[in-house]
Amino acid sequence: ERAPRRILVTGGAGFIGSALCRRLIAEGYTVCNADKLTYASNLANLASVETHPAYSFVELDIVDNRPLLSVFRSFQPDAVLHLAAESHVDRSISNAPIFVQTNVVGTTVMLDAALTYWNENGRTPTFRFVHVSTDEVYGDLPLEGGRFTEDTPYNPSSPYSASKAASDFMAAAWCRTYGLPVVISNCSNNYGPYQNIEKLIPLMIDKAVRGEQLPVYGKGLNVRDWLHVDDHVEGLERVMLFGQIGSRYNFGGDSERANIDVVHTICKHLDEKRTKPKGSYADQIAYVTDRLGHDLRYAVDSSRAREELGWRPLRQFEEGLGETVDWYLANQEWCEASRRKLG
Ligand code: NAD
Repeated sequence: ERAPRRILVTGGAGFIGSALCRRLIAEGYTVCNADKLTYASNLANLASVETHPAYSFVELDIVDNRPLLSVFRSFQPDAVLHLAAESHVDRSISNAPIFVQTNVVGTTVMLDAALTYWNENGRTPTFRFVHVSTDEVYGDLPLEGGRFTEDTPYNPSSPYSASKAASDFMAAAWCRTYGLPVVISNCSNNYGPYQNIEKLIPLMIDKAVRGEQLPVYGKGLNVRDWLHVDDHVEGLERVMLFGQIGSRYNFGGDSERANIDVVHTICKHLDEKRTKPKGSYADQIAYVTDRLGHDLRYAVDSSRAREELGWRPLRQFEEGLGETVDWYLANQEWCEASRRKLG
């Protein structure tokens, strides 16, 4: 069997997609990155690979079938890693339709284009469509006890997670109905460099150094499991290479932390790094009205990925978080560009 070498990545100009493109290029793959370049994207994330001969970029919207199909036909991928999505829960609460458009309709158009291409190529047995999703599709857990497994029934809470759940069902349906070789991944919260400034960790770092309030939802007790983005993209490569068709794989960092503890860890790290004239960065914490429908706790069991794919997270959370804080401090121009895009 021929191992995949030519990879079509969607959403490669975003946070996780760009980490994936950087990894795949470093690993010797040929990569075509297809991205609409929404506010969440930043081509600067790809500065280290953009001139590499094995890397190419196409600007397109995944809801548009024709340009998508022509990318499939001209690039001739051995595998697709589909990450393009609207990804911010708060935005999904204030404007849900774009989430349905990109995440549900866009994924369906992607699957359809992949199927057409795969049929035209004689249904190559080694072709894979990796659909990248979130653990938020499972809903939430009580503060004490329990973890999501791949058999946990879907029970999404937010328009974002509902749209991702719908897209996961579409991916599974294309596998069952048309035989498209789909594998799904469901990952917990990612952190690391190049994450859009609107997400919890970069938002807190950015606001802290600019002397602004650090808005924490409710009492900050909601628990998230954190995985370093580089551990996630290594998992995605393994899903592509070793994942069983029609199966799904959970990925988590075994690093459950209450949001308020994450913010305090960031502040502590900043206190050690920077000279705030008086007091601690933690003095800037402000509790704000809770997010509507806020999920209490997420935690995933990644034993299937560990056992079947030989995957495990390599980075310890507090250490990775410290490095992440340092990265944002050292990349203030990137932060400004990210902030400008938010308007
Ligand atoms: P992101 O918002 O940083 O990046 C999304 C990228 O998709 C952007 O470059 C954007 O331009 C592109 N995009 C959006 N709509 C598009 C469209 N219609 N056509 C083509 N491109 C489009 O997101 P992220 O955090 O990197 O997440 C990537 C994927 O991973 C998403 O599918 C998300 O649901 C999933 N995921 C994210 C996390 C997380 O913690 N960030 C965890 C698990 C799963």
